[in-house]
Amino acid sequence: MSRHLPFEVIGRADAELPLVMTCEHAASDLPEWSAQNEDQAFLGDHWGWDPGAAELTRALWDEIGGVAVLSRFSRLVCDPNRDPSDPTFIVEKIEDHALSWNQGLDDQERERRRVHYHEPYHGAIDQVLKARMAQKRPPRLLSIHSFTPVYRGEHRSVEIGVLFDDHEPQADALLEALSATGLRVLPNEPYSGYAGLIHAARRHGRQHGLVYLELEIRQDLIATADQITKLSRLIGPAIAEYARGSETVENKSPR
Ligand SMILES: [Zn+2]
Repeated sequence: MSRHLPFEVIGRADAELPLVMTCEHAASDLPEWSAQNEDQAFLGDHWGWDPGAAELTRALWDEIGGVAVLSRFSRLVCDPNRDPSDPTFIVEKIEDHALSWNQGLDDQERERRRVHYHEPYHGAIDQVLKARMAQKRPPRLLSIHSFTPVYRGEHRSVEIGVLFDDHEPQADALLEALSATGLRVLPNEPYSGYAGLIHAARRHGRQHGLVYLELEIRQDLIATADQITKLSRLIGPAIAEYARGSETVENKSPR
């Protein structure tokens, strides 16, 4: 195992804004493997990471503050936004293409990836949250993702999705504030938070009793540096307002 750290933390746990952003699909890196030519198309596309999501997370952090934790490995090593027991935790094949570094994996290698990638990433989020809770300044959690504008031939008209399961009132409030910017924002689109797809936010939210949501941004809105700067300015205030709700509302979620 190289010294490659599987996560990056931006900001400090005592940040003024009570917000912890996480970005599970921030990178397309394969820290220990070299992909073959035929793998590259998948690794560089939405299968391998969420294009634009890391840059947007950084831009939002510049704009409003808080803390951000980003992954530094492709979801095709193992997916930080899935429970390790999920069949899609490590994907062997995409659309009939067998990913070269994921062939013939035994339980030991699956476990090694969990220990060397998945757990350190989640451990970094836990560290930030523990420090924050020790200061008695509970934050709100927001997981930042991006989705492809065309999926299996179908164009998606939603521009931002607010994904939730436990925290519908907070999701509604954020949705309303984001919609006021003129963007097309929908609840639980293009996927539902009820489908077990917001693993990271849910895991940490439930463990620490915090409100958690996931934001899905359509990739063509964050394809250039200029777009990312503009979007972070446009939606930053709504996210800051969501975070500040943690100071006025009791944050008890069911275990
Ligand atoms: Zn994602």
